Amino acid sequence: MKTLLVVGAGPKALAVATKSHVLRELGLPAPRVVVVEPHAVGGNWLPSGGWTDGRHRLGTSPEKDVGFPYHTTWARGRNREINEAMHDFSWTAFLVDQGGYAEWIDRGRPSPQHHVWAKYLQWVGHRIDLELVQGRVHSIAPAADGWLVSVTDADGVVTQLDADELMITGPGRSSRALADHPKVLSISDFWELAGRRALPVSSRVAVIGGGETAGSALDELVCHEMLTVSVISPMATLYTRGESYFENALYSDPGKWAGLSLEQRRDVIRRTDRGVFSVRVQESLLGDNRVHHLQGRVTRVRDSGEGVTLTLRNAPRPDEQHVFDLVVDATGGQPLWFLDLFDGDATDLLELAVGGPLTQPRIEAAMGYDLAVANLEAKLYLPNMSALTQGPGFPNLSCLGELSDRVLRPAVDGQEVAGRAVGARVAPARVGS
Ligand SMILES: Cc1cc2nc3c(=O)[nH]c(=O)nc-3n(C[C@H](O)[C@H](O)[C@H](O)COP(=O)(O)OP(=O)(O)OC[C@H]3O[C@@H](n4cnc5c(N)ncnc54)[C@H](O)[C@@H]3O)c2cc1C
Repeated sequence: MKTLLVVGAGPKALAVATKSHVLRELGLPAPRVVVVEPHAVGGNWLPSGGWTDGRHRLGTSPEKDVGFPYHTTWARGRNREINEAMHDFSWTAFLVDQGGYAEWIDRGRPSPQHHVWAKYLQWVGHRIDLELVQGRVHSIAPAADGWLVSVTDADGVVTQLDADELMITGPGRSSRALADHPKVLSISDFWELAGRRALPVSSRVAVIGGGETAGSALDELVCHEMLTVSVISPMATLYTRGESYFENALYSDPGKWAGLSLEQRRDVIRRTDRGVFSVRVQESLLGDNRVHHLQGRVTRVRDSGEGVTLTLRNAPRPDEQHVFDLVVDATGGQPLWFLDLFDGDATDLLELAVGGPLTQPRIEAAMGYDLAVANLEAKLYLPNMSALTQGPGFPNLSCLGELSDRVLRPAVDGQEVAGRAVGARVAPARVGS
């Protein structure tokens, strides 16, 4: 049996590990899934992950859980069994198990707080006996038949893990800020101060960014005393995700995606995903007349005595300067953060596979149906890079069940899966120190 190592124990890791568990329970072949995580399962949904204080709410419905949309189609004659078995790990199964199902329904199915979402992921991990390695991946090298992954634990002990396949998840670190200035906070600084109720008293605050990271920060800021909160983004306005059936359907079922032109796909992502607030965040901000939008790209940060001056560029208009008492850099993760983990040989391999230096457009264009980089012998799954070629729901929580099908399906390609038990036993451990 192959070993798939996943960097980060977030929803994507749990979705793939759960589907693999279900397939093996049903006697179908699937890789052993090992997950490496420095914090805890669902770490980025807890205060310790540095992306939230855990008290703000999920933007999407929690029913878009690790099995959603429960529509496995590749296992002829076994699809229904797989979909039914995945329901044991659904959000509603979690609520039933914890005794909160009726209350959740009666309260109108509210979006859970981030820390509750983490608790759900931990519940799933516990139930599937998730194989978790506690530590941070700090380097990735090619091995004879896969990848050699170095993990550092909390005590600084380094362990080498050998895996056939690799999947990278998450947005990277949240400790980066636009400038090294005491009044310019990274998103992890922001949540750390908010958690200690130590956010500096400020009258003019700027939040840079227009996505979920900025949305959660704004949700928090409007609970504090301040005169104005400016949301800075290069877009003409602050867009809300429509959440109509037609938009959501493209996220839940990427079947139609391949039929759209590249320009149409970019248009969908622009209008529904990048720099877009969820309906819930937008509703809570609409009623607050302290919040307004400032269009522009921040090109310069300058100390100006009591505050910070930001230069905003909106070509062809002349640059504008605005002074703030506090600036929160909520621009979100770095899409290519994981490349810092790759050693020289791994970088060379990846460059060969994508046909040149590693840029975001080049990697995105190389993503295959299985969410792995095409032309690489050892699988490297990058769902966060797969929106443009495979579907807008793969980088987020919109179709985790479809994501796990895409990743795990190759394990049965060319094999008879209908009616016959194959490869149900767990192979001897390959991943280890
Ligand atoms: C505040 C906020 C709210 C959001 N709300 C929504 C929402 O409502 N709906 C939605 O669809 N999307 C939302 N998103 C986007 C969200 O990040 C993704 O949808 C989803 O979490 C990605 O899941 P994941 O499994 O890729 O990563 P994550 O849940 O981010 O998990 C990544 C994990 O990797 C770990 N990690 C990081 N570096 C390493 C390393 N070097 N080695 C090992 N492990 C590492 C982290 O500790 C973390 O636990 C939100 C994002 C933020 C920041």
